[in-house]
Amino acid sequence: MPSAYELTKEELAEQLSGEPRYRVDQVWHGLWNEAQELGQITTIPKALRASLSERFPSSLSVANDVHSDRGMTRKWVFRLFDGATIETVLMAYEDRVTVCVSSQAGCGVGCTFCATGQAGFTRHLSVGEVIEQVLFAAREAAPRRLSNVVFMGMGEPLENYRVTVDVVKRLHEYRGLSARHLTVSTVGVAPAIERLAKEGLPLTLAVSLHAANNETRSQLIPLNRRYPLERLHEACANWIATTSRRLSFEWALIDGVNDTNKAMHELARYAEPLRAHVNLIPLNPTPGYLVLGSSAQRVREFHDGLVELGVNVTVRNTRGRSIDAACGQLASVTNARRRSIPVRSA
Ligand code: SAH
Ligand code: SF4
Repeated sequence: MPSAYELTKEELAEQLSGEPRYRVDQVWHGLWNEAQELGQITTIPKALRASLSERFPSSLSVANDVHSDRGMTRKWVFRLFDGATIETVLMAYEDRVTVCVSSQAGCGVGCTFCATGQAGFTRHLSVGEVIEQVLFAAREAAPRRLSNVVFMGMGEPLENYRVTVDVVKRLHEYRGLSARHLTVSTVGVAPAIERLAKEGLPLTLAVSLHAANNETRSQLIPLNRRYPLERLHEACANWIATTSRRLSFEWALIDGVNDTNKAMHELARYAEPLRAHVNLIPLNPTPGYLVLGSSAQRVREFHDGLVELGVNVTVRNTRGRSIDAACGQLASVTNARRRSIPVRSA
């Protein structure tokens, strides 16, 4: 069954062809501006509400709902129509409220350190299934306004390319989110980065680097064998030249694997010509990868070393560790360590 968020405004108008024209605006406003479910849009008659809810049921049913960080982080596990499950995480900060969405159920890339990668690929999500995660979170965040969307939940957004592009366009046009507030994280699908650059979309690109030598990176990220670091560098340079935007590198610090001084120098050499911003995050432990994240002290040293090498770097605070949020890849993306404010809990 289709989701109401699958529809463009013209398609919605077709669905409401027997109704007065202003109904289209009312429903549209309810769905997109107010983040309401069809059944909650009280500006339209009850019978219409009921028939629309029946024709366009919600794609997401809550299978689990957990909190951590004193209510500042919430995670939902949603069951989809076919039984596939995905995770969505809401994080509240002093200056913003961010939702981390899944783009696929599972992921086929198979990064060794990632819980989603360890579980394998189930299927791509539809436009409606991704957008509903955003609007669900927006409802739960009220009265605060959901300000940021990051594609850092389950899945590789650039492997579900058309859906990712379509979702970004709609969130921009219909929710008014722009590049500073929309971040797509990719493992580094080089040709898709170049294709995305040409779309002219308002988004920030984060590339999951994690290692700047091919041997280590291929061990962590099997896709590196297909698009090795040299090819990825080309794609990143192309992104910057085409979009005039900066990009960031994600680096999950893994004890003894990519937190050595050698790794630090490799990273600095890789990031410097691109003037990329580096986000460090200690690895979240996962059952299938028995290696530890770096100690707090090593994270600090690695950070300070990069600063000395002239790299623009921040340490991201990890959210939701105790609730295994998403791949454990919790995202604050822009800057770290700010005071947080609880997200209302239902
Ligand atoms: N597939 C995309 C987006 C989803 S993963 C990508 O890989 O970028 C989002 C981020 O979480 C990535 O930077 C990923 O490397 C990171 N991540 C995955 N597992 C993690 C873990 N156990 N600890 C810390 N970060 C992790
Ligand atoms: Fe997929 Fe990203 Fe996890 Fe790698 S880190 S397996 S690309 S979700």
